[in-house]
Amino acid sequence: MKLQRRLLHVARIIEDMRGYHHLNRDKRIGYVPTMGALHNGHLTLMQQAKRENDLVVASVFVNPTQFSAGEDFDRYPRDLDSDIKMLKSIGVDCVFAPETDEIYSKDRLCHVEASAFSHIYEGQLRPEFFRGVATIVCKLFNIVQPTTAYFGQKDVSQCILIRKMVDDLNMPVKIKVIETIRDADGLALSSRNAYLTPEERKVSNILYLGLQEGRKHIEANFQHAVSSKEVIKLISDKIMSEPFVKRIEYVSIASHINMAELSDISLKTGAVISSAIRLGNVRLIDNILIGKANDLLQ
Ligand code: AMP
Repeated sequence: MKLQRRLLHVARIIEDMRGYHHLNRDKRIGYVPTMGALHNGHLTLMQQAKRENDLVVASVFVNPTQFSAGEDFDRYPRDLDSDIKMLKSIGVDCVFAPETDEIYSKDRLCHVEASAFSHIYEGQLRPEFFRGVATIVCKLFNIVQPTTAYFGQKDVSQCILIRKMVDDLNMPVKIKVIETIRDADGLALSSRNAYLTPEERKVSNILYLGLQEGRKHIEANFQHAVSSKEVIKLISDKIMSEPFVKRIEYVSIASHINMAELSDISLKTGAVISSAIRLGNVRLIDNILIGKANDLLQ
């Protein structure tokens, strides 16, 4: 049997990426945008894209406009050579890995404003975040021109935002959301986990364990709605039982439609329970989907 070997095309400039699309315009292109430092979570999205498309394009771009001042933009882990090896190992067809200047001109005028998202905790704490994400994803869609783009539940508010942007702005791309990939102890895989010290890593699944406390309570009371306050307290108490936790930034119980906070939860209406904490100096985020909110995973 002859082995089918496909080469990885590395595009560093927009013109090259557009040329790749033009040559393959009759094919179904699955696309996974990333900021690199790839791990199994990213690779799972790409493997799903591979199963459902003729070609898979990934991008590696640490997007400066979604970082606020004082955040980790400068020290965000970057290793394109290692990323390229991983992309080759799973048979990704093309990677778009531009420099910042290629994407953002100094005299740029336009961006995508997700104004209806300003109530969300994640956006209040990171004021540049949603505008930065919506703008870069819109730009990348215009450059890569995929048939279907794949996002991780790990960044659930981002998934809801992108689906809404595509709908509001009539973008011709389908959005798929894939379940969070975790380590054996429950910690959600993330490029930022590289910041954890070995001691912090050992206890960093506390965020996941806290969210599970909430889930257990809701499932035990499945016949009626339970108050969000009660659930938030259970989750917070569990998380704060770990001495390495410096503080909880938020625990949110929100609608999977628009991330509006909910005063109570039922399996029928569904909810997204999300949280961000500081463990030592590392910021960790995670979320779980309750009941009807699992509809997001499509
Ligand atoms: P990032 O490089 O962190 O911007 O992530 C790129 C894409 O991979 C986003 O759609 C993330 O939601 C997704 N992703 C990151 N971590 C995970 C994970 N543990 N499981 C599933 N998807 C993930």
